[in-house]
Amino acid sequence: MELILKDFLNITRDSVLSVCESLLYLFCPPTCRCCGRMIPQRTDMLCRACWEGLQTCISGDYCPSCGRDASRYAIINNRCAACQEDIINFEGIVRAGAYHDSLRDMILQFKFYEATEYKGLLCDMLNSVLKTGSFTEEIDYFVPVPLHWLRRLDRGYNQSMLLCEGIDTDKAEINTDLVRIRNTQRQWNLSRSKRKKNVEGAFAVRKGHDFSGKTVCLVDDITTSHATLNECAATLKQAGAKNVYAAVLTVAAGRLD
Ligand SMILES: [Zn+2]
Ligand SMILES: [Zn+2]
Repeated sequence: MELILKDFLNITRDSVLSVCESLLYLFCPPTCRCCGRMIPQRTDMLCRACWEGLQTCISGDYCPSCGRDASRYAIINNRCAACQEDIINFEGIVRAGAYHDSLRDMILQFKFYEATEYKGLLCDMLNSVLKTGSFTEEIDYFVPVPLHWLRRLDRGYNQSMLLCEGIDTDKAEINTDLVRIRNTQRQWNLSRSKRKKNVEGAFAVRKGHDFSGKTVCLVDDITTSHATLNECAATLKQAGAKNVYAAVLTVAAGRLD
């Protein structure tokens, strides 16, 4: 008798859940987080077209020094044609993908529109490129590119810190001793030279902390002119860092070329 009652309750519960799911699907259908099209399952997160767009973004070659799109056959002295004359203060870079299609949309939503649900997927992509990085094994610290505390308060999170938290590593630690001491102007509409000026002297290492002899990997979502990464790398080297690398989701340098 007891068994029959248990079965009956289980069947009733499953039926209620199934009706609730159907109603939810009817009145609030799952949609692609990127383009808004309807998708079959809420857990899919993206529609088929956006998943395919993402695959295209992450498959191309790039320059190991600046991260711009570049064929591996066009790299001379570890640099592509576009960055031969550039001043780059970090030793190398890995990027998750090219700045277009679904990846660009996801990163912009992650950065500006609180789409922190992308964290897992973006971190998986970053972990996958870090596995291919020639420097990954040397890293002592992953350092998120810091936001000024006022910007952090306004946004509610530092997207670079979220990325650091999702990095899969046994040896390296997250280090937050690099801070932004000046609330710099947003860089989106600035030229390459103005970006450089904008971040000059904007970073410092907390008093009493140093990076002597350490290999550091800066983590950021997007780099465009490399002005921020360059300034952070210079600040870390002044604090004793032996080598500084960068791991980013994407490089939007083409916007300024
Ligand atoms: Zn989509
Ligand atoms: Zn390059």
